[in-house]
Amino acid sequence: MSDVVRKVIALSILIIGAGVIWAGRRTTSAGEDQAAKDDMDATIASARERAAANDARLKGAYSYQRGGWVFVHLEGEPSSLGFQHGYLLASEIEDAFPAVSADMMHDTGRDWAFFREVARDKLWPKLDPEYQQELQGIAEGLNARTSSLLDVYDIVALNAFEEVPDYYVPWLNKQEKVKNAPNLKAPGNCSAFVATGSWTKDGQIVIAHNNWTSYMKGERWRIIFDIQPTQGYRILMDGFPGVIASDDDFGINSDGLMVTETTITQFEGWNPDGKPEFMRARKALQYGGSIDEYMRIMLDGNNGGYANDWLLGDRKTGEIAQLELGLKAYKLWRTKDGVFSGSNWARDPKVLKLDTPEFDPNKLDSSPNARRVRWDELLNENRGKIDVGLAQQMLADHVDTYEKKTEADERVLCGHTETTNRGVAEWAWGPYYPGGAVQGKATDSNMAKDMRLVARMGHPCGGDFLASAFLAAHPEYSWEQPYLRDMKAGPWTTFHAGEKPAHAN
Ligand SMILES: [Zn+2]
Repeated sequence: MSDVVRKVIALSILIIGAGVIWAGRRTTSAGEDQAAKDDMDATIASARERAAANDARLKGAYSYQRGGWVFVHLEGEPSSLGFQHGYLLASEIEDAFPAVSADMMHDTGRDWAFFREVARDKLWPKLDPEYQQELQGIAEGLNARTSSLLDVYDIVALNAFEEVPDYYVPWLNKQEKVKNAPNLKAPGNCSAFVATGSWTKDGQIVIAHNNWTSYMKGERWRIIFDIQPTQGYRILMDGFPGVIASDDDFGINSDGLMVTETTITQFEGWNPDGKPEFMRARKALQYGGSIDEYMRIMLDGNNGGYANDWLLGDRKTGEIAQLELGLKAYKLWRTKDGVFSGSNWARDPKVLKLDTPEFDPNKLDSSPNARRVRWDELLNENRGKIDVGLAQQMLADHVDTYEKKTEADERVLCGHTETTNRGVAEWAWGPYYPGGAVQGKATDSNMAKDMRLVARMGHPCGGDFLASAFLAAHPEYSWEQPYLRDMKAGPWTTFHAGEKPAHAN
């Protein structure tokens, strides 16, 4: 078969959208032919891998696993960063792509061809050349290592998994007056804070974040990227296989910037002339040497996608900030003595009115507002004592301020939405939705100076999610069965930019 034919077949299968079908292909009636082809593929694959391992673009890159995470060190020109990423994380990308693409198609009712077209026609032309080169490199590194048939537009669509399904598609459905359009809501990822001055134990900055998402995706959000680009600052961040931004987001750079965010609940809006959020977020972390520079990059071509309340710190000055980045409005608060927290609520009256018209800040039983009350309690109780150790405990907190009891549910900082029939309507998460806090990270000024952070895979409280028991009890989520896995918590683990595994030189 020619590569073109293979590609068309592979894409048709992707468009149907199920890993099951892919797996099932091997047991079809053409079994013997298939086995012969598999043997040949395996021979080609090992030859390909041997050849690729000598590729000069891999120079200096390495990866290893620790504490349930995959640490990956990338260095060099944009195309090399990408090639290393695609090559070293090939198996993780091949595992994550079917899960993420299935989720995008399931929620929007759009096929994969649609997402590829958006990537090619709407997103790609807006990307800076260096990020186009990096994304192209990811596809090339992946293809060099495996028989993957994904190309650069698949990778771009993957990078936009936060902004296209829940921001662009609802905007497009309105534009096109789509009848019976699916109920798409901006996600409500995360609980986070940043503190400084009299609030912290040593007067310096402490920043912490846990990522809330579906367990299907969250269990794969297990990469620690150490990126040493030829241009811009060095980056240490958590991230997702195949994606160039942290995306959940938690990262530090070598010029002292400390960055995280929580997503703005019930955000509505999209600017088709803007630049993709995933690129702006990556660029701001790579080139932002101050709170002002960070904000300037995020505002340049703001497309409204994946709109967040950014929590920022600059360890050079001890100053922290909150950038509430709406599309029609935005606001920056900053201080050298204070704390900013986030749990998916907007606070600026203009942003609330113009960008999140449906969000009710007074509905105290909703997840964002219940967690907002808890952050206020916890941070005030611990004023002057906050350090990275305490931050880890806060990320694991299970106090439900609405019911005034300790319970692992959707209203606590360490969320477990699957435990109740309430769901989170604001994010279109149904009853018993398998989602919540999927991992946590924290650091402080001293650690950031040394390019270090601590991270825990799985629920920050250490609780495990077990997929088969969940699916047996909740067959309404059986469509996730091919992708949903156990999410067992790992230990809090320290990562250090440039660190090599114990057994390496
Ligand atoms: Zn928990």
